[in-house]
Amino acid sequence: MSDPTRERPFPPTDPDCELCQADRFTHWYAVTDDGWVADCEVCAVPMVVWWDHGPEADAETTERLFAALRAAADERFGPGNWQLDSTMRQVPEHLHAHARDRDWWNRRFSRAMSRYTGVGSERQTTGLGDE
Ligand SMILES: [Zn+2]
Ligand SMILES: [Zn+2]
Repeated sequence: MSDPTRERPFPPTDPDCELCQADRFTHWYAVTDDGWVADCEVCAVPMVVWWDHGPEADAETTERLFAALRAAADERFGPGNWQLDSTMRQVPEHLHAHARDRDWWNRRFSRAMSRYTGVGSERQTTGLGDE
C-alpha cells in the first residue's frame, strides 16, 4: 500500500550507501512500508529499493516490493511492455530492482530525466529529450 505522505521508517542503515540515503531528486512513484519506487537516475526507468541495507529481504517483503514496482511500471509503460530486472549491478549489497521497457538501453541518454515533485504526483521531466 502506498502512502504519499509517508516518510522513511528509519534512518539510513548505511549512511554511505546511495540507496540507503534515498535522496529524492527524480520522480517518486510510491513509498511503502517496505521501500520506495522512483526513477533510476542512471537508467531513467522505475526502480524499487528496499528501505533496509542488504542483498536480500524475506520472500514476502520481496514480493511486496516487486508488486510496488509492477504498479509503477504498468502505469508508466503499460502492462506487458516492460520486464523485471532484479540483477543488482551498481549496488550489489542493497536490494533493488528495475523495470525496463524494451528500448531503455537505446533511450537512456535521450530520454528526459524526471524531476522530483513529490511522491505519487504526476511524473514531470526536465524538459530535455523525447518524453
Ligand atoms: Zn544501502
Ligand atoms: Zn538504473
